[in-house]
Amino acid sequence: MTHFHNEPPTDFSQAANRDLFQQALDEVSDQLGNEYPLIINDRVVETKGVIVSTSPSHKNVVIGKVSSATKVDAESAIAAAKAASTAWARIEPKYRVEHLLLIAKHMADRRLELAAWIVHEAGKPWEEADGDVAEAIDFCRFYAEHSLTLFEPRRVELAGEENEFLFRPCGVVVVIAPWNFPLAILTGMTVAALATGNTVVMKPAEQSSVVAAKFMEVLIEAGLADGVVNFLPGIGEEIGPTLVQHPDVSVIAFTGSRNVGLEINRLAAAVDQHQHGVKRVIAEMGGKNAIIVDDDADLDEAVLGVVQSAFGYAGQKCSACSRVIVLDGIYEAFLERLVGAVTSLKLGPAEAPSTVVPPVIDRTALDRINEYIEFGSREFRLAVAGEVPKELAKEGHYVAPHVFADVDPQSRLAQEEIFGPVLCVLKAKNLNEAIQIANNTEYALTGGIYSRSPANLARARRELQVGNLYLNRSITGALVNRQPFGGFKLSGIGTKAGGADYLLQFVVPISVTENTLRRGFAPKSKTK
Ligand code: NAD
Repeated sequence: MTHFHNEPPTDFSQAANRDLFQQALDEVSDQLGNEYPLIINDRVVETKGVIVSTSPSHKNVVIGKVSSATKVDAESAIAAAKAASTAWARIEPKYRVEHLLLIAKHMADRRLELAAWIVHEAGKPWEEADGDVAEAIDFCRFYAEHSLTLFEPRRVELAGEENEFLFRPCGVVVVIAPWNFPLAILTGMTVAALATGNTVVMKPAEQSSVVAAKFMEVLIEAGLADGVVNFLPGIGEEIGPTLVQHPDVSVIAFTGSRNVGLEINRLAAAVDQHQHGVKRVIAEMGGKNAIIVDDDADLDEAVLGVVQSAFGYAGQKCSACSRVIVLDGIYEAFLERLVGAVTSLKLGPAEAPSTVVPPVIDRTALDRINEYIEFGSREFRLAVAGEVPKELAKEGHYVAPHVFADVDPQSRLAQEEIFGPVLCVLKAKNLNEAIQIANNTEYALTGGIYSRSPANLARARRELQVGNLYLNRSITGALVNRQPFGGFKLSGIGTKAGGADYLLQFVVPISVTENTLRRGFAPKSKTK
């Protein structure tokens, strides 16, 4: 039985909440451009190299300057985590839980401020930034509760035999996080490792290093011992291999792109001569998520759900819908309504309360997405070609929503993760073909169907190959505990974040059996 409740979202329909959040945004604006060092073994480490984090909405605005770790720093961070690991592992689980609950409390106390940093640095609109912080708080409380159950001893006693089954921490966990849920995912992986008695080297994404520095402040406020979490911002390609291959690392908890995840998995599999175990890799990777629209679907609901799923946070969610597969009979009717809805979406800076589609994260993302748009425009019917107003284009990394119709299911556009506001519409003769198209990718992350037929909904449950399936609703916005999140195929290795079995990935199971038949005990040796 769980006592866990999800942290409710902030109600921005209340003027008082809007005013408070505007105030938080203004206060954070006054703190932009500060410097943030590495923190290894509770010591501040400044580096020659610096990551200059800029705003996606205003590319010339510097959010902060964050020290960039070298390979030597990575080794020091692992050494610090290793040195702290025995003491942290021995602490009773209930005291570790107190730390986690304190982390949640400090985040809740700083909720608007943290969300404001996310708006500025990651370019998330208000509600999505608020949801990011709420999810981070949820991870702390959920894993805290589950760790208590996990570490309860389980005993089987028979005459003459006592059996105990228990879990031990793995050791040092390297957490490598993406920018698109800059607080929630970083927090989730870190606190799961902490709750299970492991120590952490925390490597955030370059683009969201300042939000990560704010999380590190929260961890310090919560009074963790030296070296239990080490803050190691840096360039993934430079320090990643050192972190992943180090013999003293037991688990790598990664969330990010498929290519990086697979490379980490490959490197981690090699066993160094100084290494005492095979590393575990938890890798949450990308998706090419589809929603099927059946020919009896409520089109108003379907259009709304597809638009929210495809264009929320400019399509930069791993769960985002990037393919909508529509049955022949309603294809044109659905497309017409979809075009109407997408054309009215408001593009703008993340800090503007009315913005629905914010900018994309950086220049590299912008160029990559535009390359897909050029390819799609040459090959397929362009149903919506959104335009970026000149003043926005000068200011930030904007890509307007694009919808391509009659897309070939085998084409690059329908097979590769684009991670931007680009949606493919594909036609299917019937449900058989729709399911076959939906399943025909290398990924299996999220998916959904809009249908009024119980039989077709039941088929979708059975046959759609996705980790998170949604029937008659949008396919993004998974909540901790309610929708444990994660995929399979090339979308992920491991079980679901925010689910009851997630913590099992961070522990080693041990069985102890004692022969308790009376045989007398050896007397203590007496010294004369
Ligand atoms: P990314 O793979 O580029 O970067 C993720 C992290 O890996 C960053 O911290 C980066 O610095 C680090 N990294 C880069 N190269 C590395 C290397 N060689 N060795 C070790 N670490 C390295 O991903 P991103 O752009 O930050 O995030 C977007 C991607 O994340 C998308 O593909 C999205 O689908 C995926 N994602 C998946 C989930 C999920 O739960 N399945 C959630 C969020 C994001």
